[in-house]
Amino acid sequence: MDSLQYTNKKGNIRFRPVLTVEEVESLLFNDNLNGFCCACGDCELYDIEPDAELVTCESCGEPAAFGVEQLVLRGIARVIDNETREPIAYV
Ligand SMILES: [Zn+2]
Repeated sequence: MDSLQYTNKKGNIRFRPVLTVEEVESLLFNDNLNGFCCACGDCELYDIEPDAELVTCESCGEPAAFGVEQLVLRGIARVIDNETREPIAYV
């Protein structure tokens, strides 16, 4: 899972995942329950339900981890085309 670093309105460094459509689909439909932390960028968080939001991150302890479904629905994840790598609107 790639990620992008940005600075939020409070001046904190935050991360957002960059996922291809293929990755979104495999993350939604496999059983890994893979989550992502927006505070530290850790993308190897497991046992996070797809609809989980603001879960405490195992790595940094901040309540900033989300399940894949929430990352996509809330527009946190940047979803890109498998081949062109251009951002797309995920529906
Ligand atoms: Zn974290």
